[in-house]
Amino acid sequence: MEHARNIRLRLLSYIVIAYMLLAYIWWSVVLYEKNKDAFYAKRELLLIGMVAEGRVSSSSEFYQTATYLELKDKYQTQTSMILGEAVVFVCSLLIGLYLINRSYHKEMMAARQRRNFLLSITHELKSPIASIQLILETMQKRGTIKQEIKERLLNNALNDTKRLNGLVSNLLLSAKLESAYQPHRENLDLAELIEDILDKLRHKHPTFKFSYIQDGNIPIIHADRTGMTSVAINLLENAIKYSTGSTEIQTYLSFVKDQIILKIADNGIGIDDKEKKKIFEKFYRIGNEDTRKTKGTGLGLYIVAEIIKAHQGRINVLDNKPHGTIFSIQLPVKNKAAEPFDISRRAS
Ligand code: ATP
Ligand code: MG
Repeated sequence: MEHARNIRLRLLSYIVIAYMLLAYIWWSVVLYEKNKDAFYAKRELLLIGMVAEGRVSSSSEFYQTATYLELKDKYQTQTSMILGEAVVFVCSLLIGLYLINRSYHKEMMAARQRRNFLLSITHELKSPIASIQLILETMQKRGTIKQEIKERLLNNALNDTKRLNGLVSNLLLSAKLESAYQPHRENLDLAELIEDILDKLRHKHPTFKFSYIQDGNIPIIHADRTGMTSVAINLLENAIKYSTGSTEIQTYLSFVKDQIILKIADNGIGIDDKEKKKIFEKFYRIGNEDTRKTKGTGLGLYIVAEIIKAHQGRINVLDNKPHGTIFSIQLPVKNKAAEPFDISRRAS
């Protein structure tokens, strides 16, 4: 309903704008022609008058006179004025149209993200709560439960609370990243941190194969441990989540030209070129079926990108071969990053 109304409104505004444009072009042409006619008429009159007065004997002589040249000059100025104004008007109308269209698109995107966020957040919050409630009720009603079942139920409830905890932490972190994030920098062995995380994930996802390749020695960096952990976990969990049909996830770590390079590659569903920039926006989730089947709020990559930015690093997303995605991060080692990061500098 809303969408159809929007389309109708847009169509109407396009028709009005097209009408204005055509009407203005038409009036400009009419004005131009009238100006020309007036010039010819004045020229004829002037010529007849001057011949009658005996001031000129031929039209070629007339075209040399100061009176004619003045008339021609005035005509040319008026013509340029008409054409100039027409061009300025048409250009401003087109620029205005472009700006309106752009802000309309932005607004639509923001509305879509808000809607996505509300839908996913409600779902993400509600389903673990409902599941924990059900488990607790079951345990309350059925006094004696087999140890094995009890363990399974408790395990499920624990996983649900972990999910809730993760979601709430992500929400809080993303709110903090917007206003008051200051990386708590400390000497950090990134290689060790990544290997630790990979070990935990191997345990949590035994069906997946996590390979790790390290190219040479990785220097110690001055970075926020919690932030870097969040970056690696978010990227690896995405690789797991969007890896339908594949179970191989590769992590590379290298040190090139004063920069640590971290790459996380999967062979999953991949990301369309047109989506590559948008996925780092807050609450953005790709709107295809593959993504919708998975759980998420669209906060993960926003958090990753903001943390990397706060460490003066860069993040890129590339296609893996034959399919899948590679997230590549470059983190500077020797630079101003060693100083405590001041959020006020970023805001200015
Ligand atoms: P959250 O991380 O908050 O639980 P999410 O995973 O949907 O939710 P992001 O991590 O920000 O959110 O990712 C944004 C979107 O980018 C995802 O919804 C998914 O469509 C796409 N995406 C991210 N990583 C990958 C990947 N490795 N392969 C394919 N698509 C990906
Ligand atoms: Mg994610």
